[in-house]
Amino acid sequence: MWIDTHCHLDASEFDTDRDAVRAQARAQGVSLCVIPAVERAHWAGVAQLAAQHGDAYALGIHPLYVPQASDEDLLALDAALTERRDDPRLVAVGEIGLDFFVPALCELAMRERQWAFNIAQLKLARKHQLPVILHVRRSADLLLKGLRQYPAASGIAHAFNGSAQQARHFVDMGFALGFGGALTYERALQLRRLACDLPLEALVLETDAPDMPPHWLYQTAEQRAQGQAQGRNTPVELPRIAHVLADLRGMAIQDLAQANTRNARQVLPKLAALSQARS
Ligand SMILES: [Zn+2]
Repeated sequence: MWIDTHCHLDASEFDTDRDAVRAQARAQGVSLCVIPAVERAHWAGVAQLAAQHGDAYALGIHPLYVPQASDEDLLALDAALTERRDDPRLVAVGEIGLDFFVPALCELAMRERQWAFNIAQLKLARKHQLPVILHVRRSADLLLKGLRQYPAASGIAHAFNGSAQQARHFVDMGFALGFGGALTYERALQLRRLACDLPLEALVLETDAPDMPPHWLYQTAEQRAQGQAQGRNTPVELPRIAHVLADLRGMAIQDLAQANTRNARQVLPKLAALSQARS
């Protein structure tokens, strides 16, 4: 059995074939997906999708959606987390974090607004006793600083691509690091080394679908110039991505599947009840 710990199944890229994609992933052994929300307008949708497909979800405001979010959305998040407190499928606050890659988000005012939303959501996670799912892009040190001020019980640093030292700090704070399509590229030497060197207990698998296509779906700039759309990633790819990691670590695929499930349940404890019911 596979858990995809980060899959945006609610994204519009899946509007035409969402149920078919989910069914195909299940046929490949992906029995559980964690669907993190990106903005208030999506909260009801991710909860409904998780219920429909036997999956899990998280509620939050993604850093890329901070520019259009309002302070009132934070109050609404507090209310939604209260309202859904007894929903076994609500497993985390997320996707939250900081993005200092997108130029418009790097301007001073927007850096400060991202920081404020991240801290406010870390506080909500503590209040509601939920783990957090973090978006970390050129922001690992600041996110660690935020976590030192408002520690989360546990969580996932998703699509991690930082240094070994930053990775160790996240792990020391009760986090697992999420690995996906990015490690399928042979040129991703640093990321591959990190994914091999980390203790097995520190990693979880994810697709981040529809983003982060593995190399076998990736269309080069040249192919895109010729009119080919960028390949859409889906949770169907999780086992194949896992095979790449198992090969890199020189371990059996079954052992990696078990570790992924164990680790995901460790950092998102409410998953245990869901994944046991299904395995
Ligand atoms: Zn995401």
